Amino acid sequence: MSDCLFCNIVDGEIPGDIVYDSDSVLAFNDINPEAPHHVLIIPKKHIPTLNDISNSDRDVVGELHLVAKQIAAERGISGSGYRTVFNCNSDAGQAVFHIHLHLLGGRKMSWPPG
Ligand code: AMP
Ligand code: ZN
Repeated sequence: MSDCLFCNIVDGEIPGDIVYDSDSVLAFNDINPEAPHHVLIIPKKHIPTLNDISNSDRDVVGELHLVAKQIAAERGISGSGYRTVFNCNSDAGQAVFHIHLHLLGGRKMSWPPG
């Protein structure tokens, strides 16, 4: 998807502050962090929203969470805690239509989210 920001980061056409790279998953620091640690973990495959995942995506969607766990451990926030979030469509505030798992940590967070 040449008009997708995150596909362009996957393809190296737009720079990303990459922290993890596998055959199927890329993770990079959020450009506008909302917490001391704010990482976006994405499938390299273009999937617009969580509504668009299918059974064939179950491995990569699982990998996104395993990568979140790994990055949290590397950054020493596994014990203190962190949040993982998929925003889906407008009510949740999704702005980039290539699914991404937010990993947020390093500060106390409130619940419910605004
Ligand atoms: P969402 O609202 O869930 O779609 O989140 C989109 C996220 O992408 C926001 O947290 C943005 O700060 C982040 N973002 C937008 N452009 C970039 C970029 N070029 N590199 C890294 N993160 C980005
Ligand atoms: Zn894309």
